[in-house]
Amino acid sequence: MTIDNFNFKGHKAIVRVDFNVPLDENGNITDDTRIRGALPTLKKILADGGALIIMSHMGKPKGKVNPKMSLAQIKEAVANALGAPVEFAPDCAKAEEMAAALKPGEVLLLENLRFYPEEEGKPVGIDKEDPAYDAAKKEMKERQKDFAKKLASYADVYVNDAFGTAHRRHASTAVIADSFDADHKMLGYLMEKEVKAVDNILKDIKRPFTAIMGGSKVSTKIGIIENLLDKVDNLILCGGMTYTFAKAQGGNVGNSICENDKLDLALDIIKKAKEKGVNLVLATDCVAADDFNNNAKTQICCVKNIPDGWEGLDIGPASIASFVGAILPAKTILWNGPAGVFEMDNFATGSKIVCEAIVEATNTGAFSLVGGGDSVACVNKFGFADAVSYVSTGGGALLEAIEGKVLPGVAAIEGK
Ligand code: AMP
Repeated sequence: MTIDNFNFKGHKAIVRVDFNVPLDENGNITDDTRIRGALPTLKKILADGGALIIMSHMGKPKGKVNPKMSLAQIKEAVANALGAPVEFAPDCAKAEEMAAALKPGEVLLLENLRFYPEEEGKPVGIDKEDPAYDAAKKEMKERQKDFAKKLASYADVYVNDAFGTAHRRHASTAVIADSFDADHKMLGYLMEKEVKAVDNILKDIKRPFTAIMGGSKVSTKIGIIENLLDKVDNLILCGGMTYTFAKAQGGNVGNSICENDKLDLALDIIKKAKEKGVNLVLATDCVAADDFNNNAKTQICCVKNIPDGWEGLDIGPASIASFVGAILPAKTILWNGPAGVFEMDNFATGSKIVCEAIVEATNTGAFSLVGGGDSVACVNKFGFADAVSYVSTGGGALLEAIEGKVLPGVAAIEGK
């Protein structure tokens, strides 16, 4: 079932959203992007004449009640965003009466799901090495099923709009879907958009396809890099990864960030790219600094010849030119991870120009997806979030999807 094809009139919908919003020390929301992201789904349900039960996690309370992470703090903000009063259920495992009393157009917000260990389904207070761990895990999985059934009993339709947790098989993100038939469970609008964006990158590829992978380390990106090698025409590797590749090829990288235990892996990526006919674009020059500091002295040097005591913190002009050359003609673009230490203005130029090239390619018809942590911060810093095709809300979920993994939250709905 799709959300557009379902008329919620007379139905009670339980919707998993990601309202894990940042709060200040007084419990005020400092960024409501995630609440706004779920509004199209929530408003459609209310506009159709349905009743709405909203569930989410906040923070990492690890299966225990923690008032600092109570969703009661965001009740008013949700009510304001929806333009409707919101009731609050302080015990989400005992909300049946409140749920039963809900009338069309009414809204019930459940307390933080992660106050219950059953949500994540991981045994608490027992070490993985403990001989009793497996039995505890089995027991917790049973409790997780019961918890999911309880949540499901509040409603007759289930909607998952929480892409940020779609890579987790939790009670509210996946297990709950087992209680609904295919006609009564669906992805929300935000999830649909995210899944479609990933499909554009992995299945519906318009060529040439250029992926730009940056960030600090090769080790955290290896799964994605390997999956992309089968798909892309151009693979730009930048950021801190640059220096692991430079050292692997016999270079001197000075103090630059470098994973010495990943040198073979770097050589293997170079070899595989060649075998697969992928144009691997590595930085050739960098802006090296004599300190990890915005006001450090700088010089442009070859990435394989960085003087001792200096470290590469951004890409240099020759690298910028070759990166831009691989980005501008692209018709599909994926960007994950900055080209340099963009948080410091003096080392943000490379990331900014990469960003500008992506925007230019988008303006001439490319589909561009930006996602996964710091590249989102980057497009926001440079004010380009609206100028690319799609900025993903998912960190880990997006990266796992691009690695080619099936996300449990999507599979539970689509029956894959
Ligand atoms: P990641 O979370 O792996 O995507 O890494 C993002 C971080 O990588 C950002 O905080 C950047 O400052 C950092 N980064 C990018 N380029 C470099 C570099 N050349 N040296 C050190 N850190 C870098």
